[in-house]
Amino acid sequence: MRAEIISVGTELLLGQIVDTNAAFLSWQLADLGIDLLYRSTVGDNFERIAGSIREALSRSDAVITIGGLGPTEDDITKEAVAEALGAEMVIDEESAERIRGFFRSRGLQMPERNLKQALVPKNGRAIANEVGTAPGAIFEQDDKVVIVLPGPPGEFIPMVERSVVPYLRERTGGAPALIKSRLLKLAGIGESAAEDIVRDLLGSKNPTVAPLAHLGEVHLRITAKAQESSEADRMISEVEDKLRQRLGSYIFGVDDETLEQVIVEELIERKLKFGLGESCTGGLLAHRITNIPGSSEIFLAGIVAYSNEAKTKFLNVPRELIERHGAVSHEVARAMASGAREAAGADIGMGITGIAGPGGGTPTKPVGLVYIALSTESDTLSVEHKFAGNRLDIKARSAQAALTMLRQHLLSLSPR
Ligand code: AMP
Ligand code: MG
Repeated sequence: MRAEIISVGTELLLGQIVDTNAAFLSWQLADLGIDLLYRSTVGDNFERIAGSIREALSRSDAVITIGGLGPTEDDITKEAVAEALGAEMVIDEESAERIRGFFRSRGLQMPERNLKQALVPKNGRAIANEVGTAPGAIFEQDDKVVIVLPGPPGEFIPMVERSVVPYLRERTGGAPALIKSRLLKLAGIGESAAEDIVRDLLGSKNPTVAPLAHLGEVHLRITAKAQESSEADRMISEVEDKLRQRLGSYIFGVDDETLEQVIVEELIERKLKFGLGESCTGGLLAHRITNIPGSSEIFLAGIVAYSNEAKTKFLNVPRELIERHGAVSHEVARAMASGAREAAGADIGMGITGIAGPGGGTPTKPVGLVYIALSTESDTLSVEHKFAGNRLDIKARSAQAALTMLRQHLLSLSPR
């Protein structure tokens, strides 16, 4: 079955609310093994809603609309669907009684216009709304179906779960029962480099492999369609094995695993203590590490040394080193890393110094220039980065690059 979702509401187009309902519904459709081909958003305008429905029906078997079912003037989705289909509408007595009861139980007079919510297609039926007054509706026409659902998530979600999913499951009959995905997460490699390595697998149909670029990470989503969950798992594992053979240690985790999580686990396993001196990231790396339960076993101290004086006072960075090379330099990053390691009494120290902008850049030291250093008892190394983006982007990329560097160091150690 080919489906599409049309979200209705000018507030969505204005960016005032985020379309969480469509995201939720997309998940449910994937679970049912239904191919979702399009998701679109249209404002509260009768002609445009009706036009969207006609267009959607020309290419899909099922169209699901979200929003615009209230009693007010701008709630016109159901009327627009009826118009697009040329469907005849009748009052659904059960819905009408539910709406009257809703007002009665609150001691309120029902405005006459609320009764329009009880209109349902003659070819089709109402979907009961146990939480609010607006029932949904199912329009059936030839082999196509349009399902109309209300916008408030508290009404929308239960209706999807209780009515829409069972309806669509029955309607799809023998179609593939489910779609499953697994995310492989990579760090230390760019999206195009990763794509080059796995390009021949990106064209496959089932399972599919799709690359997604994230801040400082590349994610590969493997998606399989099958009748049984175990069959989908087997298909995914087969592709995962191939990807792992080629991408090896770039892969740091799957699904919900985070880079900081796998690093903290590795540090705990190896009983390695960590100390940190941060300048431009302002504690962001310490924050990410300490978000992980159990990090107190390995994280001894994180010092945010923002001023030059603080770098000298708390991280023991020699004043003349800062004067000679500038605070943003390989030399100072290394001194911060070894200073943090010594101050904390740790096995590994890291230092981060850079220019997050928007001000403070010069031709030789532009905004986005960041030095990250890692120090152990035997060695200290540093890397120069030039990051793009605004202040928060540069902070985030710096923390991410530092985690990647720390992971690479841990990978270089002899196997435990
Ligand atoms: P409506 O049914 O269009 O009158 O929407 C009523 C309310 O439901 C809106 O004011 C939003 O708060 C919420 N809402 C509508 N559409 C969505 C959507 N697609 N995702 C999340 N919330 C929504
Ligand atoms: Mg609306």
